[in-house]
This record gives sequence, structure tokens and C-alpha cells, in this order.
Amino acid sequence: SKPKPSDPTIFSKIIGREIPADIVYEDDECLAFKDINPCAPVHILVIPKKPIPRLCDASKEDMVLLGHLNLVANQVAADAGVGDAFRLVVNNGEGACQSVFHLHYHVIGGRTLQWPPG
Ligand code: 5GP
Repeated sequence: SKPKPSDPTIFSKIIGREIPADIVYEDDECLAFKDINPCAPVHILVIPKKPIPRLCDASKEDMVLLGHLNLVANQVAADAGVGDAFRLVVNNGEGACQSVFHLHYHVIGGRTLQWPPG
């Protein structure tokens, strides 16, 4: 049957160390790990430990957390050595190719980045 937004995802299993991931950053609120199918030399996912399914499911109580995720994205990009050239992407919803329904920011860099995306 069709997964519900409230179902636990593979990312909950990564947070719980039930499945392995190449973790590059962790604190009480969030986790960052390398994407298993990278689209660039640097492709890191930054996720909250709180299982917010999509960005559009976030609410005012998540404001500080969302800001924190942005700053952690800055940090993991800097640690990965991409300088100030990186892209932060959120695919929100099935229609935007979101495939894992646990909020995640893609941090993409380490190659020439085109806009519109390429
Ligand atoms: P979305 O399409 O939802 O925006 O992105 C999901 C991302 O999660 C994809 O880039 C995909 O490669 C990555 N991904 C899916 N499953 C796993 C996994 O088990 N481990 C890791 N490290 N990345 C995953």
C-alpha cells in the first residue's frame, strides 16, 4: 500500500544506527551524512532528528530548528571544502521528486553548478 507521510523512513533508521551511513556531522537536533547516490563530488543530506515529513509540514515551532539546519548546511559545505560554491535543495512532495518523506536538505557542490539546475 501507499506509504503515509507519518510512516518511519530509512532516515529514521540511519538516525537510530539501524542501518549504516557515512555520517559527517551530528548534534542533538540533526544529522548530516553522504548521499548514497551522489549527483556531485560533494552531496550531503542534512536532516532534523525530528521526523518532519516534508518542508511544508514544518510549523512555527520548527523555526529555530529550520534555521539550525541551514547553518549546519553551511558548516558541512565548509568542512567538505567547497568554499562558498554550493547548492541547497529541498524537494518538497512527490511532484517535486521527493522520495524519502523525512525532511532533508541536499548540500551539493564540488563541481560546476549550472542554473537552471544541471
Ligand atoms: P529526495 O529525492 O527525497 O529529495 O532525496 C532522497 C535522497 O536520499 C536521494 O538523493 C537518495 O540518493 C538518498 N538516499 C536514499 N536512500 C538512502 C540511504 O539509505 N542512504 C543514504 N545515504 N542516502 C539515501
